[in-house]
Amino acid sequence: MKRKFFLLTSVIVMLSLLLTAPVAAKGIHGGGNDIQPGEPITLEQNIPVNIVFIGYEKEQIDKQALLDQLPASYSPVVRYPQFYGLPGRDMGLQYNFEYRVSFAGTGTTNKFFNYLKQIGTPNAPTVFQLAYNDQVNNVLDVADSVLYIDAPSVEKWLAKNLNVNKNKGYTVVFINWFNRPDFEFHVYTKTDVVDPDTGYNFGEVRGSRKVIAWGGTTSRLWFYDLSAGPEAWTANYDVDNPDLDGNGYEDYRMPPIWEYTTGGYRDPAALSSDLGLVTRFVAIDLLFTTSPLYDPMVTAPDLHGDKIVHINMMEDDPASLGTDWISTSFVYNQLREFEPYHDWQTNLVDANPIDAGAQRSFRIFAGVLAEDDCWNAFGTPFAQLFCYFDINRDTYIPPYEENDYVVGVHAFNTTADNLGSQFGLLGFADDNWIDGTQSYVFAFDSEDYRSLGYGFSTTTLHETGHHIGMSHPHDGYDSEYGLDFGPADDFYFVWSGDESNTIMHYMDLSDEFGQFDRDNMYRWATAGYLNWANSLLGEIAAHPQAYKVLRYVTRANSYGLQAIQSFNNWSYLTATFKARQAYEQVVIAANILGIEPAPAMQMLRIAPSLTVPHEGDPIRFPDN
Ligand SMILES: [Zn+2]
Repeated sequence: MKRKFFLLTSVIVMLSLLLTAPVAAKGIHGGGNDIQPGEPITLEQNIPVNIVFIGYEKEQIDKQALLDQLPASYSPVVRYPQFYGLPGRDMGLQYNFEYRVSFAGTGTTNKFFNYLKQIGTPNAPTVFQLAYNDQVNNVLDVADSVLYIDAPSVEKWLAKNLNVNKNKGYTVVFINWFNRPDFEFHVYTKTDVVDPDTGYNFGEVRGSRKVIAWGGTTSRLWFYDLSAGPEAWTANYDVDNPDLDGNGYEDYRMPPIWEYTTGGYRDPAALSSDLGLVTRFVAIDLLFTTSPLYDPMVTAPDLHGDKIVHINMMEDDPASLGTDWISTSFVYNQLREFEPYHDWQTNLVDANPIDAGAQRSFRIFAGVLAEDDCWNAFGTPFAQLFCYFDINRDTYIPPYEENDYVVGVHAFNTTADNLGSQFGLLGFADDNWIDGTQSYVFAFDSEDYRSLGYGFSTTTLHETGHHIGMSHPHDGYDSEYGLDFGPADDFYFVWSGDESNTIMHYMDLSDEFGQFDRDNMYRWATAGYLNWANSLLGEIAAHPQAYKVLRYVTRANSYGLQAIQSFNNWSYLTATFKARQAYEQVVIAANILGIEPAPAMQMLRIAPSLTVPHEGDPIRFPDN
């Protein structure tokens, strides 16, 4: 008895060691309050945000007006359950920002603008620069020749040459060339990616993809240049119509820098607060420290399980084959690179032709067939694909292993006619219409879409990105305001978040998950796994035979400590690997003791609300 008691005490000491020491050292719970097994933990991180001006005169910027816009902290939330009035899982993360505002020195500034000249290639103005010249109220005309400048090269140059903490912190660079005598009108380009199915190069061909901002390719830096453009994506070429969609509210956007003048589009006194808004609602909320659309932990496979993308390709166009327009290896490679701590599979089953049940539901969804069905319970035919494929899940998704997690992708190779009222929709990652948990992915393609450059692969990757957690870089959550926002009205300017390296934007300039995606996903996953581990440890600690699993708990401790050390050191991928390993050891221990992992938090089930947004991803700028 005595020996057993001793061992049990050791177990409890070990258990409370896990996650206690480093967390207490970070002062989250302060005052020597140890974390107990079973308690939720919050990983805290101080996040330096460097705000660097290059080309701006010091007297142009009211530092305080900019800083007044910025948040002191950010705690991510799972966004979708909030639309149902539910809190979502506590993500166990808190970031505290440390702002450093600086102006690049004369030497660096001269070197930088020389570099832009050197790598830029003279070109005709974009159609949107010409459209700016055609405005009634424009204060000047863009010249007949402008420079096209490679955006990733500029990001790389800035990350290399600016004297800021680049590795353990984020950097926003505000560029203004217009002040200088060597100024040239310019836009930034990204042309190194073609659509894997169609070979279409959006960055090369489209005027709407010539941008004023970029970042997240090879660095934790994002630059924003109001002396570039004007551009299409944030509609800042339009200085005649404050209200673009005619809904009675101004669509707030930042005009080119020369419009911040008396008689221009914007009062010059608003420049600093405008750049503060961009720093807060774009750089911080949508790029550096974001909130997931769905809970990424829902998609974590169990012990030894795989993460499987199962694509159910439905042939709904006799004139073409969907399987000719998808690369499962592309989808697989990008997901494996993004979440290498999981074993991935990408499998495709071709249904040629589409079966009658799926086809009928698709027709109802598209408004081509007006019939009642399971959608009536949800009040909109937009629910028909979800409810049909959920009721018939076993027909369309084969039985994988119980420990696998399966992303069910339903892909429709169809026609413009069959897309009906949903023509223009590329896809969406639906929820369960009950509590905001992710359910299925739907993807659409047709000859018309392909002629615009779109195959199935990027849509499948983008929507799977949502399903495993990612938000767009143009909509998100502001932590201190408790506000979910998207690119319209007061927040129209947040379209500029799309000008960053990620498959989650609408620009089709990137085919991968970028630096910001990785940072955020790995922080969410690290905190998620450590919380799961600690929760299960609470049950193990309470078990009379806990001494039997000391070995596994000890290993879990070790992995947990390594995870937290890596997290503190901004080695987020390593942190995720270690946190997952800690969790796996705890699961093994729980299995030995016959403890079932607690089912995912039971959410309060409420009636479907019509205020919950259910929208897909449309094609933006189909004409250019
Ligand atoms: Zn999307």
